[in-house]
Amino acid sequence: MLREMAEFHEITQTAPITVAEHGGRAKCLQRLVRLDLPVPQTVAISFDTVHQIAAGHRLDTDALLAVFGEAPLVSVRPSSEDPDWGGPGAILNIGMNDDRHAELVKTQGQDVADRLYRRFVQTFAIHVARLDPDMFDGQKPLAEVLDAYEDETDEAFPQDPGYQLHMVLRSMARAWEGTTARLLRQAKGAPADAGLGLIVQRMAFGIGAEESGSGVIQFVDPTTGLPQITGRYMSQSQGRDALAGDGGVLYLTRDPRGPSLEEQCDTAFKELIEAGKVCRTKLREEMQIEFTIEAGHLHILDAVRVQRSSRASVRIAVELAREGVISKEEALLRIEPRALSELMHSQVDPRGKRDRFARGIAASPGAASGKLVFSSAAAQASAARDEACVLVRQETQPEDIRGMHAANAVLTVRGGVTSHAAVIARGLGLPCVVGASDITLRSRDGVLVTADGRTLNEGDLVTIDGGTGEALMGEVEMLPPAVDDCFSALLSWAEELGGMKVRANADTPDDARTARRFGADGIGLCRTEHMFFEGDRLTVMRETIFADEETDRRAALDQLLPMQREDFVRLFQIMEGLPVCIRLFDPPLHEFMPRDRSGIRAMAEALDLPISQVTRRIEALSEFNPMLGMRGVRLGVLFPEIYEMQARAIFEATIEAGERGRLVEPEIMIPLVSAMREVELVKNSVDAIAVAVHNQTGAEFKYKLGVMVETPRAALRAGDIASHAAFLSFGTNDLTQMTYGLSRDDAGRFMGAYVQQGVYPEDPFHTLDLDGVGELLLIGVQRAREAQKDVVISICGEHGGNPESIAFCQDAGVDYVSCSPFRVPIARLAIAHAVLRKAHGAAA
Ligand code: PEP
Ligand code: MG
Repeated sequence: MLREMAEFHEITQTAPITVAEHGGRAKCLQRLVRLDLPVPQTVAISFDTVHQIAAGHRLDTDALLAVFGEAPLVSVRPSSEDPDWGGPGAILNIGMNDDRHAELVKTQGQDVADRLYRRFVQTFAIHVARLDPDMFDGQKPLAEVLDAYEDETDEAFPQDPGYQLHMVLRSMARAWEGTTARLLRQAKGAPADAGLGLIVQRMAFGIGAEESGSGVIQFVDPTTGLPQITGRYMSQSQGRDALAGDGGVLYLTRDPRGPSLEEQCDTAFKELIEAGKVCRTKLREEMQIEFTIEAGHLHILDAVRVQRSSRASVRIAVELAREGVISKEEALLRIEPRALSELMHSQVDPRGKRDRFARGIAASPGAASGKLVFSSAAAQASAARDEACVLVRQETQPEDIRGMHAANAVLTVRGGVTSHAAVIARGLGLPCVVGASDITLRSRDGVLVTADGRTLNEGDLVTIDGGTGEALMGEVEMLPPAVDDCFSALLSWAEELGGMKVRANADTPDDARTARRFGADGIGLCRTEHMFFEGDRLTVMRETIFADEETDRRAALDQLLPMQREDFVRLFQIMEGLPVCIRLFDPPLHEFMPRDRSGIRAMAEALDLPISQVTRRIEALSEFNPMLGMRGVRLGVLFPEIYEMQARAIFEATIEAGERGRLVEPEIMIPLVSAMREVELVKNSVDAIAVAVHNQTGAEFKYKLGVMVETPRAALRAGDIASHAAFLSFGTNDLTQMTYGLSRDDAGRFMGAYVQQGVYPEDPFHTLDLDGVGELLLIGVQRAREAQKDVVISICGEHGGNPESIAFCQDAGVDYVSCSPFRVPIARLAIAHAVLRKAHGAAA
């Protein structure tokens, strides 16, 4: 039998109030009632009833008002399922009419009675009768306000409290169902059919004799989460006046600057502090309390979860768990993994103003300000002067690495989330926005023109917000990073839950140190070609790629060998015995070729060749589709001496690290494989080098050889490949590129439009495409494990740091993810969430 739903319920300890039927505010008020807090009598009206009221139903408001006894004054406030979805503003003092006014004049005095009545008439006129707000603004005498109402409506102000309440409920119900309100809340994540409940509450008078007033109080700083009493209180006020008003505002706690509530009304203040403690321990949350003091007595009208920054969320959750108020598991689940990135970087202070001049893809989080520079040379010059700068480029190239190191943030016109600038910036922890195609860059003239026609010059101050993908005018207020004890505690609790391991993609000693700082379990991808992006090294790398003859190439490789060996020794030292997975060279040729005249001239000088010859060679090497060209293992198959040099450097470094007391078993990884024979060829030559190094040195060492699964064919043939490999690592950047036939470098141009039109639900370079690329991954894992059950499987594309993709990998049985060092904590928390959800799902 269907339960007969009452149209309204008085909120008592046992009333059948639920969030799903009456909204979050109603439920929270019931909790406060159960805690014996001094909540004025309250009635809740269900979503269903409010919906009917909007459609014309007339609720028995006289019966509702009778709950409160004789001639009450009440307020009405919204109660949606999630308080963040908003709702119509509160309406106070319903029930005021000429009779009630006359009585109040006798008990409270003329002024108080006038103010209470005037406030109601003004709000009713503007929000219920929808009259022109200008007519009812300000502090006009009561009689004038009543006259204005009559003039505008040709009717006297309604005197019947039941009718007044009916009109208020109807107008709120209709406002909720209006298109604008619906769109606004949908933008905040509300479903299209989200319901509205309404709360009718007996008024506590903040206006009247003795100390009376209203305010809000919270017990933590919403930006840092540290304990601190903040809020406002205003004598002789109602509702949320204290938040808007100036006159009569008191400090809450004792303050040398002026009078405080604590001094003025000590008992009520102490009760408030107690109420805060009760809310914290019993509601298991930091709450903001809305209160009214009526003639010295405290009334708690409402309590809502304190709005908070990510860093405050972490501190609050960890402190609650440390005190045993919530479990560690709940603390973990309360933090969105992505929110951690806010703690690892500076942030634009959310309280400041933003003047945006460009918008692109949020490629690397954090924020930084500096003077605009349009070349890497200018960035370096700026750093030499100790001046912060923001490097703006059409797109970045290997030459820009130094500029990126020197810059405080990077903005590019082209590119997507896996473009050169994005990948490097994430590795460096540098705020970065890419694909800001709404600006025009005229580097040569030293100007940047915005979509709305503003011209910015080199040297102008700007701010890059890599978290939102925005570039802002000027230098804005920042919040510093907050990698503190709470952050570490949260991560150690996440680690205790098990699940996949988290390694870092780290190419340089700096990356490796960052990886360790954030608790990585090892290096899952060292892109060796990235070790050659800088200065003289870039030239030697280019000489290698550029060499026409094997003898020239070997000469260049002889120069590279000691550099590589030293690099690996340093990485092994820093990682102190944790696993290090080194990928053999995978240089997309276009990333290593100079493009402009000065680059070509510099290269000609370095190689001691005429410019014409260099240009010819560049032309000979140039490819139509460099991303699908002579990359990865293809280079290793055609020029085996390159990988041989790298293998030798790795083995010699292993021996050297061993001599220095670090036992290392390096993992060597072959990129961009599509055929088993490629693996055989490289494996043979790497094994041969191992034997040669052993014979030359007499030293014993072990190593593992693995394969990157980055082409659809490698995923499909993972069974064959696994029989030659100790581990497989899914390079989901290339796998996505090749599965979609979508260039990593060019997709940024239309990705925004594609996502906006729902062609792709998300940028697949960002969030793993579970249906397509994900299926290839599942096939690959299954076939590899069937062929070789102990094969270790990981993913090391950008998706390794993406929470949604991580949950998928955890379910797919992947052993570890590898992501940029700054995303290691995010991945760790996302894994904990996946483990907990699975455990809860299994328990349910
Ligand atoms: C990949 O393709 O996913 C990968 C990790 O390699 P890279 O980004 O260097 O091509
Ligand atoms: Mg790749």
